[in-house]
Amino acid sequence: TDLNYDVVVLGAGAAGLMAAIEAGKRGRSVLVVDHARNPGEKIRISGGGRCNFTNINATHTTGRERFLSRNPRFALAALSRYTPEMFIELVRRHGITWHEKTLGQLFCDGSATQIVGMLVAELRRAGGTLQLETEVEAVAKADTGFRLRLSTGTVTCDSLVVATGGKSIPKMGATGLGYQLAQQFGLAVTETRPALVPLTFEIGTLERLKPLAGISLDAEVRHGKTRFEEALLFTHRGLSGPSILQISSFWREGDAIHLDLLPGRDALEALRQARATTPKLHLPAVLATLLPRRLAQLVADELALPGMIGDFSDKRLASVAQRLEDWTVKPVGSEGYRTAEVTLGGVDTTGLDARTMQARDVPGLYFVGEVVDVTGWLGGYNFQWAWASGWAAGQAA
Ligand code: FAD
Repeated sequence: TDLNYDVVVLGAGAAGLMAAIEAGKRGRSVLVVDHARNPGEKIRISGGGRCNFTNINATHTTGRERFLSRNPRFALAALSRYTPEMFIELVRRHGITWHEKTLGQLFCDGSATQIVGMLVAELRRAGGTLQLETEVEAVAKADTGFRLRLSTGTVTCDSLVVATGGKSIPKMGATGLGYQLAQQFGLAVTETRPALVPLTFEIGTLERLKPLAGISLDAEVRHGKTRFEEALLFTHRGLSGPSILQISSFWREGDAIHLDLLPGRDALEALRQARATTPKLHLPAVLATLLPRRLAQLVADELALPGMIGDFSDKRLASVAQRLEDWTVKPVGSEGYRTAEVTLGGVDTTGLDARTMQARDVPGLYFVGEVVDVTGWLGGYNFQWAWASGWAAGQAA
């Protein structure tokens, strides 16, 4: 006879584990299935191994701006029901210490494996079963609930929570299973694309930028009305760093992005001052007082304005200032799912109930976490969405 559970969760990542814990706490029998060897592999590698597990600003108040979705209001219900404070409280109860790094981003003092350990311990305490290295071969609607053919046998359940994540980092087990299941059960899936991902350039531009590989500086990166002031990193493949990863979620093929290399400063004023106080310096030396040296050299080379700064006209200074505050570059692409932190798009939210994450037309079927068309900013927003959407489903499944 088939094994029966009240709830089966597909995916032992952030969202799936949270859903399973909460359903288990309500007395539901829960099975979590994952094809990976270990649970929470993305948690383990996240935040450079320290897991940026939430952001104190990842709430329903900022939600409309900081979570991207075809329906920017969709995430608000779950975000308001499960707040960053609630996750912080859980972390505290497990004796895991943390610190705020910048911009509300909370990281473990120790290691991301503490968060995985916490979730697995909570799951065990809630009576849930974790079954790893198990393939999902087929899912079908049964008389009541669902029947799943797993590589280990057949399982039936009343509620099925799909938490298989997005397409990013296929090397770590990402598959399209969640999108396939959505389509199988008649839910729409919006266009997906890599997000929070480094941007790449055509060969010629790359050659030009090559000497800058490794340079990091604070910059403001703009795309239309969207702007982020965070670190910018030049790599041998193009541009990266938090400001670029952030803007990558908004950038589309063919678009330019604009870089302000002196964010929060008045470049023209700085140049005027240099003209007054160090009139004998040439442009590369002046720029080197404002920018990392190799970057200063490149900007100066490209501007090719000879002579001493003391002899520069106001107009000429303005053109230098313009180059520092509005350097326009045109990426040709991104590094793709291979390195993207998240997947933009996914299960269309119009088919889901925002309070429970249940499919409107398929009672008992839930979608949570990254597989849904909700994508957060960099900085703990994506985990907060995973916790909040998983929690919401866990209250209902
Ligand atoms: P996942 O965590 O991806 O879990 C999905 C699970 O489903 C996996 O265990 C997978 O093995 C399993 N699965 C997939 N397909 C199948 C299948 N066919 N059969 C069985 N099981 C399957 N976000 C932050 O907020 N802060 C950070 O610091 C941060 N750092 C990151 C660093 C990196 C390098 C990456 C790649 C992402 C980072 N993110 C971060 C994003 C964050 O990891 C994701 O948003 C989050 O893990 C999504 O949770 P999820 O549970 O929806 O999916």
